[in-house]
Amino acid sequence: MHCPFCFAPDTKVIDSRLVADGSQVRRRRECTKCHERYTTFETAELVMPRLIKRDGSREPFNEDKLRSGLLRAVEKRPVGVDQLEQTVADIKSSLRATGEREVGSKMVGELVMEALKKLDKVAYIRFASVYLSFETIGEFEDVIAKLGNNSQNH
Ligand SMILES: [Zn+2]
Repeated sequence: MHCPFCFAPDTKVIDSRLVADGSQVRRRRECTKCHERYTTFETAELVMPRLIKRDGSREPFNEDKLRSGLLRAVEKRPVGVDQLEQTVADIKSSLRATGEREVGSKMVGELVMEALKKLDKVAYIRFASVYLSFETIGEFEDVIAKLGNNSQNH
């Protein structure tokens, strides 16, 4: 990178170490021209992808919206705040892990359903019934039936 003092186009790294539990790299640099020294920090860019809605419009990922959706689903269910926060964190890291700048909002719904299925079956059905907006009682029964099969497997 350019020297911030004399703007020479090249500087050399004289020391490089991991800091902040390994989530940052701290580098000491020295300008090859004016010999000033300075420090840079490097961190991974962890940007949440934007969501592409069903109608094609985009909106920023909204953590509060995700949390309130989860809270509605687990209302009066034996799911602790820690479990809920862990679920929010897991969904966020799954979204970041895609490395995409935009993902379909459908993906968030699917991640929530996967998470709730493991967390609490009633919460899962509540969320699924709103999210999938079942048209018929048959569709609802399908989800319940699939849930039954899954529990037998585990
Ligand atoms: Zn310089």
